[in-house]
Amino acid sequence: MTQIIVLGATGSVGETAFKVLRHDTERIAVDGLVAHHNFDRLWEMGTTLHARWIGLTDPEAGKHLERTESGTPRVVVGMDAILDEIAQSPAQKVLGAMTGFAGLLPTLTALSHGKDILLANKETLVAAGDLVRKMASDSGSRIIPVDSEHSAIFQCMAMNQPISRILLTCSGGPFRGRQRQDLAFVTVEDALKHPNWNMGAKITIDTATLVNKGLEVIEAHYLFDVPYDQIEVIIHPQSIVHSLVEFVDGATMAQLGWPDMAIPVQVALSWPERWPFPQQPLDLTKQFLTFEPPDTKTFEGLGIAREAGVKGGLYPAVLNAANEEAVSLFLSRHIGFLSITHIIQDVLDEFKDNRIPTTPEEIMDTDHWARNRAWALSHHYQS
Ligand code: NDP
Ligand code: MG
Repeated sequence: MTQIIVLGATGSVGETAFKVLRHDTERIAVDGLVAHHNFDRLWEMGTTLHARWIGLTDPEAGKHLERTESGTPRVVVGMDAILDEIAQSPAQKVLGAMTGFAGLLPTLTALSHGKDILLANKETLVAAGDLVRKMASDSGSRIIPVDSEHSAIFQCMAMNQPISRILLTCSGGPFRGRQRQDLAFVTVEDALKHPNWNMGAKITIDTATLVNKGLEVIEAHYLFDVPYDQIEVIIHPQSIVHSLVEFVDGATMAQLGWPDMAIPVQVALSWPERWPFPQQPLDLTKQFLTFEPPDTKTFEGLGIAREAGVKGGLYPAVLNAANEEAVSLFLSRHIGFLSITHIIQDVLDEFKDNRIPTTPEEIMDTDHWARNRAWALSHHYQS
């Protein structure tokens, strides 16, 4: 039976994976589950899924240890201990569903030990795409996308046929149709109201700025080895068509489904097989599907992110770190909505380094620098 480790088990994708894994217990066994500090939920999930171990990356979480004296799962605390656990685990697959750059080291550890990564945690691939790809090809590990658009592209590209374009669909977020001046005073609550998807706070803000779609363009570039000028973004507010691939003969394929992460999680778990999963059938006679070009003037995040991707090297790591920091400052109400992309642009403008990183340390140093610069520059933008 396949064994799996879930990173970010207590998050939005992690909770969806929990439901899918409960359904697939005859095919997949859970070796370990990892979260940051939500011990109670992690323990509950670990006992339900009969995990061998659960891990908390937050060292402060150690105070819960005494509660686990009796029974399983075993509790592991701190990133180093979790990395050891991943390295020694018999699991063949790791679902990367933790949020942000914190996913870098667990992902690299899993890849270097020959485990397949089922990847939701796009920030890791954006920040360290060249390194992640090299590690996967050196160890023979596969990276199977879980991000819904990339899962769609992955399914369309399964026959390995030559393509001319990827069309990444994008809901447009909660502020689609607004003008730039309308965005100056939107609140955290406004930005957290996504029309179609129920997700963690960080990615929900990214979908409001459209930085998420920019990160996904970079993610698609690294996952499918497709040049940036062959990756286009198209707004599709209903989030039913999850993305499209155009082949060299002009034929175009798409994958459709409800906006429910259970589908891409299940596809990644079962790939290359398909396993039954209870879903309400998609009734296209009741759907009105529309498409429009993105408004890149109002939502600068898409263009800023794409440009960082095209520059390559360490620029995507700078983009990701500045964005993570700016989103966190917005969520804590230190800066306004439009300042998120201003800060990212300012930090990218300051960065002058054309190296292609070959070690995790180079990426971590750059990440650290960009976070510091974002934080320092944010003083100019405080709301
Ligand atoms: P959530 O914020 O809902 O969950 C984040 C998870 O990561 C939690 O388990 C959390 O643990 C853990 N975590 C947070 N910070 C750290 C840290 N510093 N170290 C280790 N673990 C940490 O996020 P989502 O589930 O929404 O997103 C997860 C990833 O999947 C992101 O990269 C996102 O871009 C991507 N994604 C999400 C989609 C969605 O539908 N939500 C769709 C496509 C991609 P704890 O609960 O203990 O804090
Ligand atoms: Mg997505």
